[in-house]
Amino acid sequence: MNTLNATHDPKLRSWVASANEAGCDFPIQNLPFGRFRPARSSEGFRIGVAIGDQVLDLKAAGLVDTDDMNVLLAQDATERQALRAALSEGLREGSAKQAAWSKALLAQSAVELTVPCRIGDYTDFYTGIHHATTVGKLFRPDQPLMPNYKWVPIGYHGRASSIRVSGQRFKRPQGQTKAPDAEAPSFGPSKRLDYELELGFVVGQGNALGEPIAIANAEQHLFGVTLLNDWSARDLQAWEYQPLGPFLSKSFASTLSPWIVTMEALAPFRAGFERPAGDPRPLPYLDSPANSEAGALDITLEVWLQTAKMREAGEGAVRLTRGNTTQAAYWTAAQLVTHHTVNGCNLQPGDLLGSGTLSGPKPDEAGSLLELTLGGKHPITLPNGERRTFLEDGDTLSLRGYCERAGAVRIGLGEVSGTVLAAA
Ligand code: MN
Repeated sequence: MNTLNATHDPKLRSWVASANEAGCDFPIQNLPFGRFRPARSSEGFRIGVAIGDQVLDLKAAGLVDTDDMNVLLAQDATERQALRAALSEGLREGSAKQAAWSKALLAQSAVELTVPCRIGDYTDFYTGIHHATTVGKLFRPDQPLMPNYKWVPIGYHGRASSIRVSGQRFKRPQGQTKAPDAEAPSFGPSKRLDYELELGFVVGQGNALGEPIAIANAEQHLFGVTLLNDWSARDLQAWEYQPLGPFLSKSFASTLSPWIVTMEALAPFRAGFERPAGDPRPLPYLDSPANSEAGALDITLEVWLQTAKMREAGEGAVRLTRGNTTQAAYWTAAQLVTHHTVNGCNLQPGDLLGSGTLSGPKPDEAGSLLELTLGGKHPITLPNGERRTFLEDGDTLSLRGYCERAGAVRIGLGEVSGTVLAAA
């Protein structure tokens, strides 16, 4: 796990004034990476770091000589930490770099952002034990958690090509569904379109095929964390998911936040992970003292909804839920990396590992509508009187994440939003 250093000093302030404002997602202690270009341009995307309401162009600042984020992701931990130290020194108040780097700044409002790296492979896990239990009850009342759940991190290989950056607008998927009492399936637009509140872990340096990553080294292969909405068509999913898992119910769209918050930035926000008494210990390859002491992340996650009617009335989004990752995940990011590679599978820079839906233990901490409305049986009522069981056309769903702790400066993961359009 990463240790605290001078870049985490809560007293640090930046010469970029907006970075020092209370509640800012991107203070100098954060320094997340993304890809940008001037808005309405056709230039190639370049690597940037968010600071306050600005983006620092890393090439223009003389910090990198590439526009390829995946090259940066492939660096080892020492190089990564040196870059973070240089950014922190150059952006802090009184830095001699201010005059030169001021010319390398662009307002975030004046840039277009894209997915922060080239994603070769996307794997979605299922670490949210409260999600797994609640959803399991809906699908299999007699056996909510499968017998393997506490032994093996469950996952499936997802679709990388349909992952887009925040702001994605996509058509409601169509497909096969079958009502429990129907004799045969029917075809049409999904009627049970849902979101999934997830973290997306971005792989940094990969491993060679055939060479597993030990749990002690696992975090060195993680570059950082994003917010991920794994849109899910529940009616398609229910009909198709056995025996091989989700397929078309998930692959039509996934939306990612534009900024990768590095593992280094998250160092002040680590938490221990202890399993409830009576649960099995992980097998030795998934267990380590460091993982138990500080393997978990302490991130607050929120879900916000703005319907088309709210937008037309000039009303902002309303918060549906708020929860915390320490309460939600049964497996740590390090365990996911180690398990993914234990058979020799090779991870590559830019691979994305979804956490699975991170629902807290309480009903109002649910990370999906499937849970929040108990399978669509109990609609929620919004402040304007509208009701929802699942998402409707025109709905904009946003996820937000941030870390807060005494003795540390608050950092944010920013936001990921997406909008459902009518089926084709
Ligand atoms: Mn998922």
